[in-house]
Amino acid sequence: MRPPADDTEQGDDSDESTRIDPAEAFAALSDPLRVDILRALSTVHRESGREPVGFAALRRRVDVRDSGRFRYHLNELRDHFVRNVEGGYRLTNTGLEVVAAMIAGTYTDRASLGPGALDSDCPVCHSPAVAVYENGRCTVTCERDHPLFGWTLPPATTADATLSEVVSLAELFARQAIERGLAGVCPKCSTPVDPAVVVDPDDTTDGPTPGLRVACDTCGARLVGPVGFCLLVDPVVAAFYRRHDRPLDERHVWEPAFVTDDDTVSVAETDPVRVDVTVSLDDESLAVTVDDEGTVFVRDDN
Ligand SMILES: [Zn+2]
Ligand SMILES: [Zn+2]
Repeated sequence: MRPPADDTEQGDDSDESTRIDPAEAFAALSDPLRVDILRALSTVHRESGREPVGFAALRRRVDVRDSGRFRYHLNELRDHFVRNVEGGYRLTNTGLEVVAAMIAGTYTDRASLGPGALDSDCPVCHSPAVAVYENGRCTVTCERDHPLFGWTLPPATTADATLSEVVSLAELFARQAIERGLAGVCPKCSTPVDPAVVVDPDDTTDGPTPGLRVACDTCGARLVGPVGFCLLVDPVVAAFYRRHDRPLDERHVWEPAFVTDDDTVSVAETDPVRVDVTVSLDDESLAVTVDDEGTVFVRDDN
């Protein structure tokens, strides 16, 4: 991934003739803002005979207030879809083709799979877990509609996959995103982010439910999940599961009780937030505390 570059840099205006493969187009166009940028350029080109458009004028067209975020996504489109030339930005031939294809629906047809039962039970009610993939999102619930897991993944990655392969891929992406988010790196654009464990004070139905939140100011990516996500990628918790012959990375992300069962979680302090979580397997338990940045500590009372 290219770091954001200075937009005054002059580019080469020679258009490459190679066709972009749809998988690559999907990845580059995974953010709706990028699609908006291509469409805006295409509109201006139609009006002006493919005259370049300056950075500020283009940003006004797309109507994005955050200049840094706009610059980041524009840079992600550069070379393949957009060229930086004297006087501003212009669509490449590939960019023109992609916009034409989007208008024709080629890149926006979303595959869907399922719903189908998985080889897994809901930890809450023990009915079978059910997965569906539609509109670019993989969602797992149970037959009684308990929400278990949800993750977006681009349609191109699911081209020839079965439903359970799509679920595994979504879980892999989720684990990687959690690891990167907790390490302070945006899972999508790799700029610094601040992971936070937060307690929603308005959630009083069953007591407050703490959650992990990572939000990127640069690209707008967001990661939202239960505080148990922090334990999913923790080496001490992983070792505890291995000792009990249940490798954590071979289980679905919703199966460990610490992810789905609120009874294993209690808020110890709110300022700063500290959350106690009990991990139990067979007759043994491991008591850990998660701090306000998502770091997991083993408690002394084990
Ligand atoms: Zn259920
Ligand atoms: Zn980001």
